[in-house]
Amino acid sequence: MHSRQMTISDLVRDGVVTVRARPDIRRICLELSTACNLNCAMCIRSHWLPPVDRGHMSEEVFSAVAGSIDRLPSLQEVHLGGFGEPLLHPRALDFIDRLRCKGVEVSLSTNGTQIDEPTARALVKLGVLRVVVSVDSAKPEEFSQIRGQTGKLPRVLQGLFRIRDAKRAQRAGRPRLGIQTVLSRANASAKGALVQAARRVGASSLLVSHMLPYTCDMKDQILYTGPRHTGCQFSSASLFGGSGWPDEGGDWLGWGIVDLPRDRWRTDRSCPFVGGKWAAISAEGEVSPCYALMYTHSEYIFGRHKRVERLSFGNVLQDPLDSIWTSEEFVKFRTRVELFDFPACVDCELCDSCDFAAFNQNCWGDEVSCGDCLWAQGIIRCP
Ligand code: SF4
Ligand code: SF4
Ligand code: SF4
Repeated sequence: MHSRQMTISDLVRDGVVTVRARPDIRRICLELSTACNLNCAMCIRSHWLPPVDRGHMSEEVFSAVAGSIDRLPSLQEVHLGGFGEPLLHPRALDFIDRLRCKGVEVSLSTNGTQIDEPTARALVKLGVLRVVVSVDSAKPEEFSQIRGQTGKLPRVLQGLFRIRDAKRAQRAGRPRLGIQTVLSRANASAKGALVQAARRVGASSLLVSHMLPYTCDMKDQILYTGPRHTGCQFSSASLFGGSGWPDEGGDWLGWGIVDLPRDRWRTDRSCPFVGGKWAAISAEGEVSPCYALMYTHSEYIFGRHKRVERLSFGNVLQDPLDSIWTSEEFVKFRTRVELFDFPACVDCELCDSCDFAAFNQNCWGDEVSCGDCLWAQGIIRCP
């Protein structure tokens, strides 16, 4: 995503540490909705502290974001994602159209249940770059168990087929289709079937992430291992095999790939959000550095409880997005994350009893610590 980790020497000019505040957002992750028609066991939305009213992004918030795009010269893409189902927003297609009219690439993460034929045709016609659909199992019963509703797998696959067919009908190469899957003990089998499903629907990638446990019940469901683990190491590669598949969807023959996560804690860390210059904007317009810090919640890092507070640097209804992005506090935070100047609590012998670690702070004085972030490990991932 980015070439190499920044070091402090990159910032020293004439003996002084200098950081330029530029409106250089490359990707906006825009949460059109916090509502969802599914009820997945591993979804963070049931565990927000305090619970958040679930609803759609207002016209005002969307217009404030869209209105700032002309002042973001490095912007490459708006990705409609976050914690909710974007296609439940009654104006989702209209919003995509408005972004496309501004010349912005748009991609989308969806649970796939809302892709009827008109929606599939519209996504193709609007030139959406990529649609990534969550499919946590290719076995209908397992899928229903994970997603909290029965009978949805055929509907999700049908949505993917509809986009494939609409692309063929319109002789379009877009949107590229992707499947995203979250690995846990509950679904660690039959991954060959998922690769086959990806091939059948014409997907060009299968992105695999591990699960981030938000409850005590979920903490034993993880498959990745920590630094003190001495037993047999889990290997996601062995589940999926080394396989890819020919992607024959358009005029070009491509090769579909399985994109695997890291399966164990390592010492090297870098943030995909900050390194990629992404901004995460909630349905209410709050601007956060990443998905991990968008909402206050509990999570479990290798079985250890941690409370994470929301980190917002402003709201687009009060300040323009480019001003929030270039504010001193946000620039300082991103620079610190780029340097990754945090202690690694997971490696520390005190972590199980440390109050700093329990509140996502650290003994170096940071009120927000990225030290044991599993996104920065490549263990938890998003499209
Ligand atoms: S589909 Fe996504 S947003 Fe909806 S309940 Fe499942 S994890 Fe949560
Ligand atoms: S914050 Fe606590 S757990 Fe983390 S490195 Fe410092 S003492 Fe160790
Ligand atoms: S390292 Fe983790 S918590 Fe820190 S900004 Fe990146 S994703 Fe967010």
